[in-house]
Amino acid sequence: MNHPTDSNCIFCKIVAGQIPCLKLFEDEATIAFMDINPANPGHALAVAKGHYATVDAIPPDMLGAVAQTAQRVARAVTKAMNPFGLNLLQANGEGAAQSVPHLHIHVMPRQRNDNLLLNWQAVPGDRAAIEAVYNRIKAAMS
Ligand code: AMP
Ligand code: ZN
Repeated sequence: MNHPTDSNCIFCKIVAGQIPCLKLFEDEATIAFMDINPANPGHALAVAKGHYATVDAIPPDMLGAVAQTAQRVARAVTKAMNPFGLNLLQANGEGAAQSVPHLHIHVMPRQRNDNLLLNWQAVPGDRAAIEAVYNRIKAAMS
């Protein structure tokens, strides 16, 4: 399979075998490996082989393949680590704290009281404000 690549991209270099990784899984469209800056033990990444920066840029079937690999890794992490919980996280753009512009899903096992700042307080929203934004997004759905 031919994938778009960026020779300056760290994940493209991992896909090409130019930089080592602790590889968990690989198929035609994806690769999974351990994160070198783990938020918790077992933190891993499911990564598209093609260089697509964000969720809006990647073809749907490729995103589906990354999601399947994330599930495969999450199942193994759950089996091996029996974590308190587990988050799947995928960031798009600097404003979302994406540091590597090559699509990946974090598989993040959680520990009790780990204080990872992935969660937010549930504050009831204003119904009219939610509906106004809903209308704009609904109109943009393809
Ligand atoms: P994000 O900030 O969502 O783009 O996530 C990028 C992730 O890639 C971070 O959690 C980094 O720790 C991780 N990372 C960066 N370089 C490497 C590498 N060479 N091997 C494994 N993980 C990496
Ligand atoms: Zn890349």
